[in-house]
Amino acid sequence: MKAQAGGYVRATDVSHALRMLAEADGAGRVLAGGQSLIAAMNMRLSTGDMLVDISRLAELSGVTDDGDCLRIGALTRHVDIGRDPLIRRFAPLLSEAVDHIAHAAIRNRGTIGGALAHADPAAEFPAAILCLDATLHIQGPDGTRSVAAGDFFVDVFTTDLQEGEILIAITLRKCAQGEHQVLEEVARRSGDYALAGLCLIRRSSGHRVALLSVGATPVLATGAMAALDTGTVDEAVAALKTEIDPPSDTQASASYRKHLAGVLLRRAVARIEGGQP
Ligand SMILES: Cc1cc2nc3c(=O)[nH]c(=O)nc-3n(C[C@H](O)[C@H](O)[C@H](O)COP(=O)(O)OP(=O)(O)OC[C@H]3O[C@@H](n4cnc5c(N)ncnc54)[C@H](O)[C@@H]3O)c2cc1C
Repeated sequence: MKAQAGGYVRATDVSHALRMLAEADGAGRVLAGGQSLIAAMNMRLSTGDMLVDISRLAELSGVTDDGDCLRIGALTRHVDIGRDPLIRRFAPLLSEAVDHIAHAAIRNRGTIGGALAHADPAAEFPAAILCLDATLHIQGPDGTRSVAAGDFFVDVFTTDLQEGEILIAITLRKCAQGEHQVLEEVARRSGDYALAGLCLIRRSSGHRVALLSVGATPVLATGAMAALDTGTVDEAVAALKTEIDPPSDTQASASYRKHLAGVLLRRAVARIEGGQP
């Protein structure tokens, strides 16, 4: 099937894009890498959209060192996140996430901003930026605002982004010396969406655990985090299983996903400690 768009405009800068979205009167849709949006349009899950193409806005792309923080432009493509030296050094969780996302063709076009705005609960970047406690920077008709990753994901494919707004960038605190960041997941085949996935960060100040594919949004596992801070891995796995409520679908049952989450937590801890789960 072919996509049915209500119109197309290539934005020349962010203000132009915002103006075009405002003029579209509710039908405006931001087009970034197109890897999810065009697929949805081809399946006629979305029709009549006025596409505002931001893909050529160089000001929204790239990674910069902002002192204590990294700033990642929303249009930075998955492939560029994967090979960026600043990301490798200061946010290795994101480099690792890229290795699990789809296939090369999709990684060459898909953008981190598109993945976050799309908010697929099975996607790697949303869980990773939640684990990293990143901040999302948004520009809209009324100016700019910043939202913590923990407040950004609202429901399946639903975020705090309002009509007419554009996600501009993500900022996150740089990984400290001695900090560990790992991602573990189980997928049926390499490149498939994960049946379950888990991000783990160990910092001197404590642990962060976030999961993908176990709920409507990425899940911050605060019980498991507290148990890892003060107790054993067994206690953390037990806490994790009480705080997630995964869905059952054609891919996996809820109980299997719960089981996987525990296995992934053990694997992630073992990787950090250099042992076997
Ligand atoms: C076959 C296939 C397999 C995939 N497998 C995986 C996988 O294993 N893991 C994974 O994480 N992802 C996977 N993806 C999704 C992929 O990562 C997409 O690239 C990503 O979800 C969307 O990014 P995009 O830049 O292409 O966004 P687009 O498709 O252009 O846009 C997606 C949505 O986000 C909105 N949007 C985009 N950018 C912005 C912005 N800056 N501000 C506001 N709104 C914006 C659009 O309006 C649209 O609603 C897969 C996709 C396909 C087609």
